[in-house]
Amino acid sequence: MSEYTPMMQQYFEVKKDYEDCILFYRLGDFYEMFFEDAKVASKELELTLTGKNCGMEERAPMCGVPFHAADTYISRLIKKGLKVAICEQVEDPKAAKGIVKREVIRVVTPGTAIETDSLSEGINNYILCIEYQNNQYGMAFCDVSTGQFLVTQLDSTEKVQDELAKFNPSEIVANDAFMISPVYMSELYERYGVPVFALSHEVFDEKNASRLLGEQFDIKNPDEYGFSHIPFGANAAGALISYLRDTQKNDLKNIRSIKTYHNSDYMILDRAAIRNLELIETLRDKEKRGSLLWVLDHTKTAMGARRLRGMVEQPLTKKKEIEKRLDAVGEFGQNMIEREELREYLSPIYDIERLITRITYKTANPRDLLAFKNSLEPLSGILTILSDMKADKLIEISKNIDPLTDIYELLSASIRDEAPIGIHDGDIIKEAFDDEVDRLRSAKTNGKEWLMELAEKEREATGIKNLRIKYNKVFGYYIEVTNSYKDLVPDRYRRKQTLANAERFETDELKEMEQTILGAQDKLNHLEFDLYNDILVRIGNEIDRIQRTASAIAELDVYLSLAYTAEKQRYVRPAINERGIIDIKGGRHPVVEAINTETPFIENDTALSDGDNRVAVITGPNMAGKSTYMRQTALIVLLAQIGSFVPAKSADIGVVDRIFTRVGASDDLAGGQSTFMVEMNEVSNILKNATKDSLLILDEIGRGTSTFDGLSIAWAVLEYISDKDRLGAKTLFATHYHELTDLEDKLPGVENYNIAVKENGDDIVFLRKIVRGGADKSYGIQVAKIAGIPDEVIDRAREIAARLENNEGELSSKVQKIAKEKKKDSETIDGQLTMALIDPGESDVIKRLKAINIATLTPLDALNILDDLKKRVE
Ligand code: ATP
Repeated sequence: MSEYTPMMQQYFEVKKDYEDCILFYRLGDFYEMFFEDAKVASKELELTLTGKNCGMEERAPMCGVPFHAADTYISRLIKKGLKVAICEQVEDPKAAKGIVKREVIRVVTPGTAIETDSLSEGINNYILCIEYQNNQYGMAFCDVSTGQFLVTQLDSTEKVQDELAKFNPSEIVANDAFMISPVYMSELYERYGVPVFALSHEVFDEKNASRLLGEQFDIKNPDEYGFSHIPFGANAAGALISYLRDTQKNDLKNIRSIKTYHNSDYMILDRAAIRNLELIETLRDKEKRGSLLWVLDHTKTAMGARRLRGMVEQPLTKKKEIEKRLDAVGEFGQNMIEREELREYLSPIYDIERLITRITYKTANPRDLLAFKNSLEPLSGILTILSDMKADKLIEISKNIDPLTDIYELLSASIRDEAPIGIHDGDIIKEAFDDEVDRLRSAKTNGKEWLMELAEKEREATGIKNLRIKYNKVFGYYIEVTNSYKDLVPDRYRRKQTLANAERFETDELKEMEQTILGAQDKLNHLEFDLYNDILVRIGNEIDRIQRTASAIAELDVYLSLAYTAEKQRYVRPAINERGIIDIKGGRHPVVEAINTETPFIENDTALSDGDNRVAVITGPNMAGKSTYMRQTALIVLLAQIGSFVPAKSADIGVVDRIFTRVGASDDLAGGQSTFMVEMNEVSNILKNATKDSLLILDEIGRGTSTFDGLSIAWAVLEYISDKDRLGAKTLFATHYHELTDLEDKLPGVENYNIAVKENGDDIVFLRKIVRGGADKSYGIQVAKIAGIPDEVIDRAREIAARLENNEGELSSKVQKIAKEKKKDSETIDGQLTMALIDPGESDVIKRLKAINIATLTPLDALNILDDLKKRVE
């Protein structure tokens, strides 16, 4: 009976514990994959699928990647939501008896990657662990590459969705119950590409969690961290640590601090708001250019860029905290020279937050350490400048920055400036750092001199003028004599190799010298490798100080960037209030003004409060600037709550708990929803979740359906929102339904505004100025003309518009009559309305239609009736 080869047996032994991973099995200079893994990987990575003799009749499917290029391949696999288990040789093949011992040294998963290839500089890479229990969601987030660890607990599916939108995790691990929770699992993977893996229920055990949290974060009293209020959050945190230990296979030294948070500490922004307000990327092209972040981000370090992005997605809700940030930005606004000096100091600072992780994982190379050293150099200078600063946040930052002089000195003394990337071939350690290294190096250099001297001596002794001592990997050192001097070769020379035109020899003396020289080289390489690892460990031991410093630098970078933007874009410091007043004078849209520098941006005021002006109904022609105005208000509020200055002459901002947006038509065909359905879903979400402290931006509610339905829906929504007993949220409501301006007199808290235009014959001039009162016209046809619709079509549109306008009185009385007919379903009303619009006098067509009994109608009758109806209409 045939049997698997010993190597294959070892492969199966390893693989059985990593069924859900692609196993990278180290064979010499390659990582090989076998069987199903090989089939999947060869397809995903476009590798040739070959076969390997495995002892059985059929060869094992196999594909492989060179070990030095593995990072790129691993990154491609994890981007597809797969996990990769790296199985290494864990003993020296030369020392091995039989098959070399191999073990899985790490499992790389989408949410736990630390390799540069798999990460984007300015974006955190989160893994999320969820425990769903008793309708509560315990959630723990970790960015392994930076060591950040956050825990919370939420009580509704919507809140979970909001956190998902904010953190955008690249992997979710969860308990079994979550798999059947109301959070739509397949959506997570299919739409957002987030793989979800189930973990066994034991890892969520409460005792397990408190033990692991205690061990990992040195937590003696979990209550201190607020865990008693979020028990499922604590369980999720424990399970996440357990999963990270299993995959990272190290002591997770880089994950040192844990933070619990409540979502009430932050303004809630759902996916729709983040997208519609174009906070991070533009709606259409998904580009950073054109987004709010693009205007704000003048950070100098990758750490700062990540922190700023996080702040934009998580504005604050506590006045005091916001003001602390504003103080810091303000101080840099007043001290421009210091600000620019600090920004210069930050420029060369490398991503130390991620680098320290790679140092603790021992995957940092000597060049990384040089970059690390250069990043520490500016720290003392930064501290000197900060020492004069008064803002609380800056004092705090200053306290947290450690100049790390000891580490700088260690690196300066130990790593050669020209050190290579590899760590196995020496040339890493500086002279005078280690005596033994110096001794071996001199043996190596002296060896070269000895060889030259020996060659000279042999030339003299033998008379062979062109005698040379050379080296190659196979034969080591040898003496080479060309055929013309063959006769002069003495007996003590032993032949090693014969070539066509020369012979190669060795002597006892040469052999001895070879051993000394090569031994020194070999010893030196090993010693340098050990010393290098020792340096990594020594730096790794200082991780607390380094992480604290990195985090402080990130925050400093953000305030500097916000202050720089404020000056560049002429922003002012907003006042923050908790009285629900939003009073913006001369507000501007931060992105429109930055992108379109040729035309001046026209400033506008916004005045909203919890009193008489809760809801602004904004009418005005197409293209007048309604959307721009509404978004600018939302962005100014958001900027203020981030702690940024704002584009306005002055601003007093009442803190809002949430910004909701319903903006424009966005299809979700991939998600199986029509434009109107998306619109209604968003409106429904807003009405259910908004509070009186929310800010609502509603653009064109009801435009996705027939005029009649749309108007009715918009009307009812406005009634609901403006009613203090039901919602009473501050709202900007843009609409083309002029009928809604009637509500100003009917509903308390509603005010009309419009964006002014000037008529110029048939054309219009946009003034972009918001004024009190409702607009009476849409100017849609004029805008269509500007857009370049052919004159013929424009003229015809004008004709139809005139006709409709003449019929308007009759039409509206008909609309009202139809509305009064009770209990008609909206389809019928729509149909009738359409008929009425075609020709208000043709109600007999409707009567005829109503009389039809479809159940008994033959196809032929149907055709005849249709023909008849058509004739009547024509
Ligand atoms: P529609 O009803 O067709 O959606 P709208 O009234 O919402 O139109 P916007 O899309 O806000 O109009 O504005 C149209 C364009 O006018 C914007 O792209 C912007 O470039 C410009 N604009 C808007 N407001 C201003 C302003 N205050 N100053 C200068 N330009 C502006």
